[in-house]
Amino acid sequence: MSYAISPPTITTVPVEDMDAVFPVCRVFCVGRNYAEHAIEMGHDPDREPPFFFMKPADAVVPTGSTLPFPSATEELHHEIELVVALERGGQGLASDDALSHVFGYGVGLDMTRRDLQAQAKKAGRPWDMAKGFDRSAPVSPIRPASAIGHPSDGAIRLRINGEPRQEGDLSQQIWKVPEMIAYLSNLIELQPGDLIMTGTPKGVGRVERGDHLEGDIDGVGDLTITYRR
Ligand code: MN
Repeated sequence: MSYAISPPTITTVPVEDMDAVFPVCRVFCVGRNYAEHAIEMGHDPDREPPFFFMKPADAVVPTGSTLPFPSATEELHHEIELVVALERGGQGLASDDALSHVFGYGVGLDMTRRDLQAQAKKAGRPWDMAKGFDRSAPVSPIRPASAIGHPSDGAIRLRINGEPRQEGDLSQQIWKVPEMIAYLSNLIELQPGDLIMTGTPKGVGRVERGDHLEGDIDGVGDLTITYRR
């Protein structure tokens, strides 16, 4: 059987030190996973179970990209995040088994049209157009867990035009990586190739046309993105 139209391209992410690429299935994102970021967004960090939203796989773009400034926003925000890349899927996973499903880790940006998100929140509408727009998920090369283990602490930072904007530590995550994988696997069946963006530390803010973003996580990698003027 042949396709009626050309099939969509599989989005891929380079793998550090490997002559192979990681194929992306879906992109899940966790909201409010660092207490100080939850507070800066006006929420109580202690009382909320994790919640998830999604970006399409083809929102993923590689490090070093120069991107057009997104349409339909005057308030583009940066959120620097640890990205988990799954090697194996599954459902109903236990936390103590979850890390065996991980292929590796990367550094990601959950780019957000904060103005559209605020409108959606106010109207009780979905966040998709605030979070899942084109090129909204820059991701660094993936480093295999076989090389770096499973990072649970280490500085996570974002600079814009050389100025520090976000700084935190992975140890500040409210829901840890194994807990997030287990929780998510009880909502949907995880698939090989799924990415999970694990939330952002405090200090989110505006990105302007022409800005150069540099993110890094100790022991995981770094990511640079430039927006066109
Ligand atoms: Mn986020």
